[in-house]
Amino acid sequence: MNRDSPIYVAGGETLLGAALRERLRGEGFANLRGVPPDEPDLTSAGQVEDFFSEARPEYVFFAAGKSGGISLNEARPAELMLDNLLATAHILDAARRYGVTKLLYLASSCAYPRKAPQPLRVESLMTGPLEPTNAAYATAKLAGWQLCDAYRRQYGDGFVTAIPANSFGPHDDFSLDRGHVIPALMRRMHEAKVRGEPELPVWGTGRPQREFLCSRDVADGCVFVMQHYGGPQPINLGGGTALSITEAAAAIAEVVGYRGRLSFDNSKPDGMMLKMLDATPLRRLGWRPSVDFRTALAETYVWFLQHAVKEGPEYVCAAI
Ligand code: GDP
Repeated sequence: MNRDSPIYVAGGETLLGAALRERLRGEGFANLRGVPPDEPDLTSAGQVEDFFSEARPEYVFFAAGKSGGISLNEARPAELMLDNLLATAHILDAARRYGVTKLLYLASSCAYPRKAPQPLRVESLMTGPLEPTNAAYATAKLAGWQLCDAYRRQYGDGFVTAIPANSFGPHDDFSLDRGHVIPALMRRMHEAKVRGEPELPVWGTGRPQREFLCSRDVADGCVFVMQHYGGPQPINLGGGTALSITEAAAAIAEVVGYRGRLSFDNSKPDGMMLKMLDATPLRRLGWRPSVDFRTALAETYVWFLQHAVKEGPEYVCAAI
């Protein structure tokens, strides 16, 4: 990738898309195409076609497709799956036809079988049933990886797949019904602090464990993978901070300054009990995350405070 190469970050408004744009600009990659609000509607084949024929990106980072936390996955599986399948099909095919040099497809750690041995190694992909709470979304992500692989085999395209750990950071979705655990709990704790509520129910048992990686690290890792990895197997983008939900909630409470009691709401699902990535292959290539977890939490909270506007009892995130 040269500093003047035309680069397209698909899904520029997502958490990882926004972090990627900032990272690329910071590194001097200034020729970014399709930056929001000029990004095409990726569910429209025609709009994607028009965009590629005009923008002619040489490199594509695929951070597109609707995604969300456990509650959104349970409530809207069809919408999530279809949005991801359409965006993937349209972009990968246009990337092939318009001669994109390299495309990095971002899958998700929920694509691993729910009972795969931990830490999760790419050899475990497609060896068992998925976690039911996010099976539809995960199937679309598996299809994305498989489509990259199919284009590699049929056309020799430079399409690679990376699987990031649970990501969070500025530009995250802080809504209660869509957000992942960190932004959702951050917002709920902020509101509980403002209202002086003595107790906050954390969903589930608090026992599941997740590996968290801030979006700045994921973006850094993506640029590294784009430049240093070309293999047919997906590569795990991990090495983040492994915590139980109880520990994560306590860390968020500290950053937010919420001093109430944390209780647990067992009527809400736990999802996968354990989700840690084996990051050995990436470490061997020479990459590891560098941002301290609490520093990243604090940055995320500052961003939330700056961008969330209060509308009645609701906090709505302003446009990026
Ligand atoms: P997952 O990693 O795909 O399971 O998605 P999430 O980030 O949404 O959830 C991770 C874990 O955090 C699950 O066990 C949730 O039950 C738990 N959790 C606790 N409180 C919350 C909350 O307020 N919102 C969300 N989304 N998850 C929560």
